[in-house]
Amino acid sequence: MSDLKITNLHKHYGAFHAVKGINLEVPSGEFTVLVGPSGCGKSTLLRTIAGLEEASEGSVEIGGRDVTYARPRDRDIAMVFQNYALYPYLNVKDNIAFGLRARKFAEPEVEKRVARAAEMLGIGHLLQRFPRELSGGQRQRVAIGRAIVRDAILYLFDEPLSNLDAQLRDDMRVEIKRLHRELGRTMVYVTHDQIEAMTLADRIVLLRDGIIEQQGAPLDLFERPENRFVAGFLGSPKMNFVKATVKGKTVALADGTALPLPQQSKAKSGQAVLVGIRPQYIALAGPRAAAGHARVPVVIELVQPTGSRVHVTLPLGGTSIVADLAAHDVSKPGEKTHIDIDMTRAIVIDPATERVI
Ligand code: ATP
Repeated sequence: MSDLKITNLHKHYGAFHAVKGINLEVPSGEFTVLVGPSGCGKSTLLRTIAGLEEASEGSVEIGGRDVTYARPRDRDIAMVFQNYALYPYLNVKDNIAFGLRARKFAEPEVEKRVARAAEMLGIGHLLQRFPRELSGGQRQRVAIGRAIVRDAILYLFDEPLSNLDAQLRDDMRVEIKRLHRELGRTMVYVTHDQIEAMTLADRIVLLRDGIIEQQGAPLDLFERPENRFVAGFLGSPKMNFVKATVKGKTVALADGTALPLPQQSKAKSGQAVLVGIRPQYIALAGPRAAAGHARVPVVIELVQPTGSRVHVTLPLGGTSIVADLAAHDVSKPGEKTHIDIDMTRAIVIDPATERVI
């Protein structure tokens, strides 16, 4: 059963069309992440699900009930906001308990739920503090605690980690993932951060300009993007795109380099294409190239160490590409070496439509 069903949803702000006919179903217990660049409409979509924005057209069902015109409090949702939205004059315990007390829960039940949430989030020792006495990470835990004490059908998160520093974001990401596993609740999470989306999601819904470009399991989108936008949005460093012409079973780059055409590609001989190669599928040449791999001589242009890996810039086919190599493989710019490109995992794009072919 799906806990959330969105049908042909549109949102206009005056003349501006922010959400353009979204259809989406979120099965019970799934962690769905809405991701996309700034302005793509993900927050608008989430706020329309929550009832904080009114749909211009289409419908929203939560738990099998049409709530398109229901008030937020009547939608069986709990929401965590980017700016925490805590009550400054209430201590942590009362902040977490607020929604339960407003719904007239008996005090022993409130105590029990607050204690459990506080324990899960590691904030049991902070219950008497006020929000001004907490760090950003602690405030966000309180905001999450306030949401999870509720028996909502749907838990909505609007960029909950973007006010935190990088280290804390990593820690909180793990906690949110653990929380989802323990609670088994249906969650819809908005972020602009593709790494957050990849690591948290059961399913990613990738938006651009108010429409869904592609949705699916994170690895599906990573390995089988349907178009250039999806291919370029997911992955770090980003996918390399190199101009080429299909020649029989190969793609010829501008400098004459011939790479094997990926088997799954339907590109026709003579067709001008873009070849998409992930930095992770380039390796320093081993004893012999595996089937479907292309061996190419290169000169290292730039080296960016990141610790165990190194991002290496090198010329290929008249452009510069980035390879993600093991740190000990390459030491300095100017080095001449050979790389193996795993063309079985490369994609071929029609530059006119930007679709993978
Ligand atoms: P971000 O990551 O920057 O928050 P987003 O994907 O969440 O981006 P939305 O906040 O959903 O984007 O906004 C989508 C589009 O709708 C944007 O172009 C924005 O300027 C516009 N928009 C949002 N709210 C309003 C409003 N109240 N009035 C007019 N336009 C709005």
